Amino acid sequence: MLKAGIPLGSIFGISIRLHYSWFFIFVLITWALAEGYFPASYPDWGTATYWGIGLATSLLFFLSVLTHELSHSLVAQAAGIPIRAITLFIFGGVSQIGREPEKPDVELRMAIAGPLSSLVLGGIFWGIHIATLDASEPLTALAFWLAWINAVLAGFNLIPGFPMDGGRVLRAIIWRRTNNLRRATRIASTIGRAIGYLFIFGGIFWIFWGSWLNGLWLVLIGWFLENAAAGSYQQVAFQDLLRGHRVSEVMTRDCPVVPPGLTVERLVHEYFLNSGRRCFPVVDDGRLLGLVTLNDVKAVPHDLRTLKTVKETMTPFERLKWVQPQDDLSDVLQLITTEDVNQLPVVENNSIVGMVARDNLLSFIRTRTELGV
Ligand SMILES: [Zn+2]
Repeated sequence: MLKAGIPLGSIFGISIRLHYSWFFIFVLITWALAEGYFPASYPDWGTATYWGIGLATSLLFFLSVLTHELSHSLVAQAAGIPIRAITLFIFGGVSQIGREPEKPDVELRMAIAGPLSSLVLGGIFWGIHIATLDASEPLTALAFWLAWINAVLAGFNLIPGFPMDGGRVLRAIIWRRTNNLRRATRIASTIGRAIGYLFIFGGIFWIFWGSWLNGLWLVLIGWFLENAAAGSYQQVAFQDLLRGHRVSEVMTRDCPVVPPGLTVERLVHEYFLNSGRRCFPVVDDGRLLGLVTLNDVKAVPHDLRTLKTVKETMTPFERLKWVQPQDDLSDVLQLITTEDVNQLPVVENNSIVGMVARDNLLSFIRTRTELGV
């Protein structure tokens, strides 16, 4: 969901992105401050001041969220965990972590860094609020609200439901005690789902017996949390089942390949429509040149399909991610997830020996779960 977004540049090698849903929450908060909170608390300002301070406060709030996420990311980077991007979206910010930490202590430090930075920011804004009490009412009001919201941010994130920061702290503690990541994740994410449901029910009550807008908001946050908790547990459980198994155990070996000079028209009729496969390796003289998928073909306009060749349509080898037969399946799942692809070619000594698809992994997991092994 968070792949789309507007790139803003990068800090410490981490690219920062704005998801489209962010604009909605940015406008909503600016509007709520300029038309609601500030006029109610400070009735003597002019309209321009309400909106100017509202806008500045809102921007600084999102900078605070970004600082919170950056703190997580910098601690992760220091521990050798790559961070792909930080995306600001409707519910705040999210860091795309390259892989899960391998030690509970690293996870604990990573998790606590965010709320800690929010607390420090809250303290700084509180200091500004006190220092400007007699100097400027708009400035002191801005600092007061930011001190308060950063404290709320720290407190909210410390709720012990995975995948929130507090839930990650809890998971790290259980993980360290039991030495069992899957069990720790199950406990922490079950609490996360319970908190999600609590928010949803609380929100429904709020909709009918209070403010429908706040209630709806709480329902949405609860729904998001429940989903994230369930998804994170599944990911860890899958990884656990796959660990120790190799690509060669699940890969498809009898892979029909296509030549590079074939037209897209013939590729569609002779290969895609005949086989039901969604992806073909492009091979010339036993050498893997690239991969052509259903999505690549869909991007070619109908009237150009008799002119374009497979070679012009495929993803070339240099840009492909690939795996080797002896690679661990848990790494393959991670790669498929972070690269958001459906399949990867299996390459050995520069030639293709098979394909491994998301479906291969899922049926491997399903069979093992059903058999209880
Ligand atoms: Zn956080």
